[in-house]
Amino acid sequence: MFIEPRVGNRHNAPRRGWIEVVCGSMFSGKTEELIRRLTRARIARQQVEIFKPAVDTRYDVDDVVSHNAARIRSTPVAIASEILLLAAGSDVVGIDEGQFFDDSLVDVCQQLANNGTRVIVAGLDMDYLGRPFGPMPALLATAEYVTKVHAVCVCCGEIASYSYRNAASENQVLLGETDSYEARCRPCFLEGMQAKAPAPEARSAAAH
Ligand SMILES: [Zn+2]
Repeated sequence: MFIEPRVGNRHNAPRRGWIEVVCGSMFSGKTEELIRRLTRARIARQQVEIFKPAVDTRYDVDDVVSHNAARIRSTPVAIASEILLLAAGSDVVGIDEGQFFDDSLVDVCQQLANNGTRVIVAGLDMDYLGRPFGPMPALLATAEYVTKVHAVCVCCGEIASYSYRNAASENQVLLGETDSYEARCRPCFLEGMQAKAPAPEARSAAAH
């Protein structure tokens, strides 16, 4: 667990930046954790800006809203490079739904951190097939601090790290998550995937 050992900059010291990533499955509390960190920085009168991909309009166009309806004003951006322009002068930059950005998000975060900004990215680490999602794996590799949060499996109550999709769509980006997805642990995720599309190798894996 990342405990934020140092969130400010001492007087007269050069500004230090770094990258934090909060990742996990759906219903794991990623956005709540992002909001918690940003709110604490804002209370300390740091300049905080929040961005999210313009594609993510599930709840509200202008707010980052978590499932428990905590919200914070944010700016939707179409491409990651817009963040560089809009974040000028910020102490802390929060980015929600990082998985929906293209790979250039990694360079954007690096540039911000190199220039002294604390960058906090929240996002899904895996898509509904269990594959690393968008720029998240590269961000996890380049971040100073990584927090992986977990949900609870709806089938068995164990710790869940997969986002299982009930709907039949093959599109990687499917919004409206509460109806279409469940948090599942590894065995329950595999069970669901095998029931959808039984494959010989998947069946043999389940036998062990
Ligand atoms: Zn389970």
